[in-house]
Amino acid sequence: MKLTKILCLVLAVLSLSLCFVACGNDEGKVLKMATNAYFQPYEYYDANNQIVGIDAEIAAAICEYLGYELEIIDMEFDSIITSIQEGSCDFGMAGMTVSPERLVDVDFTSSYATGVQVVIVKEGSAITSVDDLTDADYKIGVQLGTTGDIYATDDYGADRVVSYNNGNSAVLALIGGSVDCVILDNEPAKKLVEANPGLKILDTSYADEDYAICVQKGNSELLEDLNRALDALTKDGTIDAIVNKYIK
Ligand code: GLN
Repeated sequence: MKLTKILCLVLAVLSLSLCFVACGNDEGKVLKMATNAYFQPYEYYDANNQIVGIDAEIAAAICEYLGYELEIIDMEFDSIITSIQEGSCDFGMAGMTVSPERLVDVDFTSSYATGVQVVIVKEGSAITSVDDLTDADYKIGVQLGTTGDIYATDDYGADRVVSYNNGNSAVLALIGGSVDCVILDNEPAKKLVEANPGLKILDTSYADEDYAICVQKGNSELLEDLNRALDALTKDGTIDAIVNKYIK
């Protein structure tokens, strides 16, 4: 009799702990997003030190749609692809342009936004169009590892391109006179020009691009999930509503 009771107790405890293990696996599925949160309005810190912006909100909507929790990890822009390759983060979302070079290292979802590389100069600068960049020995500021960096290095040579950790540092270098212009994505460029009097964006743009989310090469399951979510959130107007909230 006593033995039966003990056996029942052991079985009860065992099944309870099995349930905890099972429940634990179901709950708290987390997707880790790698980003660089100095790229307003796509990702930046708000007054409460929270990472907000178009990418942060679209990622939150995607995770809600797929039943995941979202964790955003801030890092240097040129570490994002490595973190995806190594598997320390699940996806990269950082106003990231789809490019043939990056497609060797990661896979990209369908595009959820377009970007334009523009040129920021000081008002009254002798640089009045993108063509002027080929004419003289102008120094060009860029953000390290971005498409602006890659294209400008190809077009004008590494000697004339100075890379900074973020767009803000590049703009400070322009104001201080270490570079003659800065090549940057249009929306962050607009924010930086608004915040720093005496600067302007040239009317001619440098390159047009598509932004997408990157995942580890060959992770077709996550890629399909993300594409399915992006498709549904585009169709129901969620993506447009988020973009319109940040870009007037
Ligand atoms: N769109 C650019 C790129 O992908 C810049 C992105 C960024 O600085 N966050 O390289």
